[in-house]
Amino acid sequence: MGNWTRFANHVCQGFNVVPRPVYVDEGDVSRPLWVYFALRDIHPGEEITISYSSEHDPVPRDFGYSVQEWKDAANKARAEAPRGHRCYCGKALCRGTMFNAPPGEAFWEKSDGRRGG
Ligand SMILES: [Zn+2]
Repeated sequence: MGNWTRFANHVCQGFNVVPRPVYVDEGDVSRPLWVYFALRDIHPGEEITISYSSEHDPVPRDFGYSVQEWKDAANKARAEAPRGHRCYCGKALCRGTMFNAPPGEAFWEKSDGRRGG
């Protein structure tokens, strides 16, 4: 069964909804009601997309990468990630993995992660 979110797919770039925890008659902060807010108008029939890894589109230059260096690092991250974490969203700036790495472990956070290092 599940709910509508099983039809929402992860993409690394250009996602159209973001989740926010909301509490309604709930005093336990570990039990939020997750509400999804649209970032822009979503047209009938358009796929609902969310990012599991970031709330911002990737901007390679912000991390000192060229676009090609980013793609190379994403391909390396994808190859090294557990199979269920690999991303194949097909976006130009795919991160290679769907989920957050531990803090400081994502390739775009490591100074030695550039150029496949
Ligand atoms: Zn991706």
